[in-house]
Amino acid sequence: VRPQTFSALQDLDLRGAALDHASLKAVLPRPELNFATAAEAVESIIGRVRTEGFTALSELAEKFDGVQQDYTRVPAEAMERALAELDPQVRAGLEESITRARAFAAAQVPEDTSVEYGTGATVTQRWVAVRRVGLYVPGGLAVYPSSVIMNAVPALAAGVGSLAIASPPQKEFGGLPHPTILAAAKLLGVEEVHAMGGAQAIAALAYGVAVPAGVDPALAIEPVDVVTGPGNLFVATAKRLVKGVVGIDAEAGPTEIAILADATANPEYVAADMISQAEHDPNAAAVLVTDSPDLAEAVREALENQCRTTKHAERVGIALGGKQSAIILVSNIDAGIAVCNVYAAEHLEIHTANAHADAARISAAGAIFIGSHAPVSLGDYCAGSNHVLPTSGTAAFASGLNVNTFLKAIQVIDYDRAALQVVAPHVVALANAEDLPAHGDAVAIRFA
Ligand code: NAD
Repeated sequence: VRPQTFSALQDLDLRGAALDHASLKAVLPRPELNFATAAEAVESIIGRVRTEGFTALSELAEKFDGVQQDYTRVPAEAMERALAELDPQVRAGLEESITRARAFAAAQVPEDTSVEYGTGATVTQRWVAVRRVGLYVPGGLAVYPSSVIMNAVPALAAGVGSLAIASPPQKEFGGLPHPTILAAAKLLGVEEVHAMGGAQAIAALAYGVAVPAGVDPALAIEPVDVVTGPGNLFVATAKRLVKGVVGIDAEAGPTEIAILADATANPEYVAADMISQAEHDPNAAAVLVTDSPDLAEAVREALENQCRTTKHAERVGIALGGKQSAIILVSNIDAGIAVCNVYAAEHLEIHTANAHADAARISAAGAIFIGSHAPVSLGDYCAGSNHVLPTSGTAAFASGLNVNTFLKAIQVIDYDRAALQVVAPHVVALANAEDLPAHGDAVAIRFA
């Protein structure tokens, strides 16, 4: 049964509404499901993984993924077989995606920077890769070999030495992750892959999982320093809960698209792009922001028609009919830009007469797609940009996955005696002002 979907896509008329940040924030559509609703279940899963280790992982794999497993590590032969049996067209697609992602990641690697304060006084900011990272690759409703590339390429460009991938075990593939995921990892030279999904995978990467005495130590999961990658609400909530124990990238939860469009936009393209996001997840969001009531109507019709033939019509319908999706009418494109900057979409497409100029005025979005020939699907696979992007409005302060996610900046202070002497009186004065005289003494003793 094809659900009656697109008539359910809500209208939000903001013509004449207040456009200040707080007023818009209060009315813009957001999903009903949020981190608070998932936190209790996720906290209990994390606790179990920490105390029961592989026993918990096995029970959770059976419960959520319907598979039996004692340990999670994917054998080397399975990785080799997956690459050998990979469809040549898919291989070509993965290789093109890797080539473009590598070029963009290489260009992001920052230079160390130094400032000299006269002779013998230098401070330097040195970029150092984290030791080990855990990369989450989703595999619930859909499987995402592309996310292997999006996670691993910037980590490798940053110089991370140890990479572990986690992806849900698949019943139809003998409890291993989908073979295309294994093949993509192998193509990139990432040998450590674990068949584990959801919140339990995030917990295992963050805290590590030991093996009992007598079991091959290669089956253990070493804790990582940073966990990255997209996932559903449970994955995103788990990342939020382990943050602090490890670093995380942005919260890349259920996906979102916002499209800013005027009367010049092609309604068929707009509808296709909204459906393409909605097919990820019933919790996905698709929001059209337009100053043209005619375009709004035409998009509604196009959605209706295209949904008749789209494969995942049911979850598309639930996503478009959910509270998180809407067609928003605004008085003009300036108002539309204000709406988009408050909404802070994971993906923002701009289909307007002055798309480049309008894009330049966007200050909050995970990624911006300019014009009618840069659909989000391009960015999902082959633009060169990263598809692991901040969701739920976190693009107001967070960035998409990039090389910096895997780097730390270490500041290096290099002063000799003469250079210290130049600032010594200032250090002593400030130390005394803070009533920390031993700080001043530590400088003075060198000149006594
Ligand atoms: P997933 O791998 O994220 O989640 C599957 C796992 O969720 C299962 O293995 C299970 O362990 C766990 N789970 C399922 N139901 C549960 C429950 N009731 N309680 C506890 N755990 C449960 O795969 P998915 O579900 O297909 O989701 C992928 C998500 O990733 C989608 O929401 C998609 O939009 C998103 N995504 C986001 C980006 C981004 O950058 N923001 C990119 C790609 C994909």
